[in-house]
Amino acid sequence: MKIAVASGKGGTGKTFVSTNLANVASKAVRVALYDLDVDEPNCHLFFNRDHEAVETVKTMIPVVDGEKCLHCGTCSDVCEFHAIVSLPTDVLVFPELCHSCYGCLEMCPEEAITEGFKDIGTITVSEHRSMTLVTGKLRIGQPATTALVRATKDEADTNVDVTFYDSPPGTSCPVIEVVKDVDYVILVGEPTRFGLHDLDLMVQTLKQLDRHFGVIINKAAEQNHLLEDYCREQEIDVIVRIPERSDIAVAYARGELVTETMPELEELFGRTFKRLRQITVGSAHE
Ligand code: SF4
Ligand code: SF4
Repeated sequence: MKIAVASGKGGTGKTFVSTNLANVASKAVRVALYDLDVDEPNCHLFFNRDHEAVETVKTMIPVVDGEKCLHCGTCSDVCEFHAIVSLPTDVLVFPELCHSCYGCLEMCPEEAITEGFKDIGTITVSEHRSMTLVTGKLRIGQPATTALVRATKDEADTNVDVTFYDSPPGTSCPVIEVVKDVDYVILVGEPTRFGLHDLDLMVQTLKQLDRHFGVIINKAAEQNHLLEDYCREQEIDVIVRIPERSDIAVAYARGELVTETMPELEELFGRTFKRLRQITVGSAHE
């Protein structure tokens, strides 16, 4: 069972939900939590970790052989990222702009371009009780978010019952990379006008991708039914409402798992996990 936890925008409580769901699930089954918010991963702040292993992730950058190059300009023309520029006497490569698409290698008529490599970030694997935490961290300034998300997902722990993906915020390519092959997507939304606007963008994206999803309403206030009304209109399942409480916000800011320190929230996340198992088993038989 693979579940992505996503949101249309940052700050809705996506990491709060994914860390506490993974924690509560790890008390019953073997769990892997992947922090794929590679620009600023922070799931690791909530866990005591053992056996930490770090590997560097590399992607391709072109290397030009000056002896073979005839300065025809084809590589400049095919590179939509302006990462390679052919000059009358030289070819310049800008690694920080290169998206490793291989376009210039394939199109060079002189076969003057070969593969070099650059570091784009790291993947850290650690253990927390019966949970494996896999964290992708992008090097500052690298335009390789999607590539690192893919590489982190490929760090597959097949010996688990449930995998949670903590997705980057938004609706762009890295998020599509996260949700494209999961069994279910949890959208974490907050009941504000901004929250609804960005949640709707994500809902439309997931509908286009034909993904199975539901909504967790975070910071839910008693009298505010903005998201419930929206979900009813759109026929979207509301999985659970997490109340807006200052003690929850304080615990999160301290880096505490509320499923360890607040029994009623442990119970709420436990119920949520059971519900997710029922939903995903049900959808597997559809
Ligand atoms: S496409 Fe090849 S031959 Fe042409 S300028 Fe680029 S590296 Fe040189
Ligand atoms: S690999 Fe792609 S992005 Fe990088 S320089 Fe070549 S064409 Fe541009």
